[in-house]
Amino acid sequence: MMTHSPRPPLHAPKPWSNSFATLGEDFYVALAPTPVPEPYWVARNTTLSAELGWSWSDENEDVLLQELAGNRTPAGAVSLASVYSGHQFGVWAGQLGDGRAILLGDIAGHEIQLKGSGLTPFSRMGDGRAVLRSSIREFLASEAVHALGIPTSRALSIVGSDLPVRRETMETAAVVTRVAPSFIRFGHFEHFCHHDLHPQLRQLADFVIDRYYPACRTDPRFEGNPYASFLNAVSERTAAMVAQWQAVGFCHGVMNTDNMSILGQTLDYGPFQFLDAFDPGHICNHSDHQGRYAFNKQPQVAYWNLVCLGQALLPLIGDQEQAVAALDSFKACYLRSFSQQMAAKLGWERSSESTAALADSVWALLANERVDYPIFWRRLSQWSKRCDFLDSQVRDLFLQPKGIEAWLQQFSAAIALAPASHSADLMLRTNPKYVLRNHLGELAIRAANNRDYAPVSRLLAVLQTPFDEHPGCEDLADFPPAWAGSIAISCSS
Ligand code: AMP
Ligand code: MG
Repeated sequence: MMTHSPRPPLHAPKPWSNSFATLGEDFYVALAPTPVPEPYWVARNTTLSAELGWSWSDENEDVLLQELAGNRTPAGAVSLASVYSGHQFGVWAGQLGDGRAILLGDIAGHEIQLKGSGLTPFSRMGDGRAVLRSSIREFLASEAVHALGIPTSRALSIVGSDLPVRRETMETAAVVTRVAPSFIRFGHFEHFCHHDLHPQLRQLADFVIDRYYPACRTDPRFEGNPYASFLNAVSERTAAMVAQWQAVGFCHGVMNTDNMSILGQTLDYGPFQFLDAFDPGHICNHSDHQGRYAFNKQPQVAYWNLVCLGQALLPLIGDQEQAVAALDSFKACYLRSFSQQMAAKLGWERSSESTAALADSVWALLANERVDYPIFWRRLSQWSKRCDFLDSQVRDLFLQPKGIEAWLQQFSAAIALAPASHSADLMLRTNPKYVLRNHLGELAIRAANNRDYAPVSRLLAVLQTPFDEHPGCEDLADFPPAWAGSIAISCSS
């Protein structure tokens, strides 16, 4: 079912289609978003709209507002909510699905989805809405993670409404427009496997392989088994993504299989956190009592989730051995990507035994004193750039400086051994000055709750170029205030 618009809405370069809808009605329910009363703009991402080739002009502004509020379906769009299942906190959760997200369709390879756009047949006990607070967090985080070079869904806009939404307290509704090549999750495959719907399972896998993983059809390592090759490719992309999370200090917080993108992109920002003080066992989700999704558990949880995907693909892969073989490279791929990321943080393009040893020992020192993670790396980059070894900016971050002093000597010795291959500029391009810390999001949310949306825009601009200096924005690069520790982020959104 490919529909073309008689007029290009949203001033898009190409008309709407909905590739996902071509899968047929076993995969979704077609429906329109539920309108919100009196929508208004909270945030617009003009960087992304320019990348998409869209323009926000005076004459299309109101049409766009109504379309991205879910109050008017763009002409030619076939909107739908898809069905999926999944494992949540390690337990089979059964059918989930788009309970508050509605896919409008795709334009030039980008799927456009409204989140918080009303009830669907998959809403279960929920109200189909998202609150302004969590919408601002998702909007800013998507763009921050993208700017750090980590694969992720993007966010185009937030539309607010005074529609009351009940969570722990009364809040107001918002609709975030998310953009990604696909929103298909591990849980989509688990759904069709669980119900023994093998023709649909195959159809879904073929759809994803043909569109996003065409090389799996001719992969010599899994000759004749594109599904094993597909599992392997998802596993390697996921490993590389999680390695980037670990290096930058990003904790996703709710890595259920229904929140895992089949494209290895960061998806579904809920109780996420960028680490302030470096605590490897940090749990950012207040609903995660067991610490299943603690920061240092993320690589193994990703693997656990891939095993679930492997189980789901087993009817297509054929035998268990091939499925296990397809996941075999996860660990090596993760370690390779992670050491590569850490080498770059230290100023080397390539990882080596020396960069790996330096990274290991500095992580231990940071963990020991719970040193601020982003500030440490940024100061280290500047220290390296200035070559001023008397400068105590890095050392001052530690109460007991002996360990870091010895480490800085090892680091300097490694630079002296290979001065040409070391680059302080690479460090400054790898270690961001601006990170979406919880308290920064919180301050922007508080202002937005008082109808002041300027802090959201200011934060967005800085987070989109996080390696630049941005004079006048030093307050956004500082240590967290004492109250930041008391911010409790749960699954409530
Ligand atoms: P999440 O924890 O946000 O990834 O959501 C897990 C599942 O619950 C997904 O199927 C969501 O669509 C659904 N869900 C979460 N919040 C709501 C809500 N307010 N209304 C309807 N469904 C929701
Ligand atoms: Mg989710």
